[in-house]
Amino acid sequence: MRRALIIGNWKMHKTVAEAVAFARALSARFPERAERDVAIAPPFTALHPLREVLRGSPIALCAQDVHGEDEGPYTGEVSAPMLADVGCLYGLVGHSERRRLFGESNEEVNRKARALLRAGIRPVVCVGEALEEREADQTFSVIRRQLKEGLNNLSADDIRRTIVAYEPVWAIGTGKTASPAQAQEVHDFIRQFIGHRAGKETAAEVRILYGGSVNPENAASLMAQRDIDGVLAGGASLEVDSFRKLIDH
Ligand code: PEP
Repeated sequence: MRRALIIGNWKMHKTVAEAVAFARALSARFPERAERDVAIAPPFTALHPLREVLRGSPIALCAQDVHGEDEGPYTGEVSAPMLADVGCLYGLVGHSERRRLFGESNEEVNRKARALLRAGIRPVVCVGEALEEREADQTFSVIRRQLKEGLNNLSADDIRRTIVAYEPVWAIGTGKTASPAQAQEVHDFIRQFIGHRAGKETAAEVRILYGGSVNPENAASLMAQRDIDGVLAGGASLEVDSFRKLIDH
């Protein structure tokens, strides 16, 4: 019922020339399977050139971040209308690197998600606990708070257009993946939260992605879980070969 979604987050990697070469190679070898949605989240500088290369292709564009205001004196920032203008269908908000390295709060994540929704872009709201929080049995309380505050003031319809990515901080870029059962437990919790917040029908529609050291070897067992509707991959999305295997595993 829910279409799987695979997003590759390139973080601060690839020049325009490298991004274009990747997109051309991936498009040329894009699997025929139509039942999965695929998106690339390149650095801002590559969004416009990639839009041109990917015109007519099923590969969508995702922004890595956005500012919460639509325009104004915010030097260095990029707004949601600007991202819509270059063809972004999705936008990440609250990635753990943004939260940890740039001090992003749940309130800011919420402003960003609402800005994307205003511009017709689907927010991918990232949540996840740190290792100390998991070890202190705080996983569910951390995720509950991130969801409660991150989805604040969103209507059921907004939430239906939103994607949640569960990314345990201890699994990002570390080579340690949550086991399928560990991930499923949290995904189930997230879906229940959405059910209470926006109704069962909405909860059944919302896609919940897993992220954290996903690779072509572990993707299938994660995605076989009932509430795991796709993956958000960092490292494994940087090479055409491994990203293609992720899409087509
Ligand atoms: C990410 O950046 O969202 C991520 C999950 O990275 P990695 O796959 O490299 O752990």
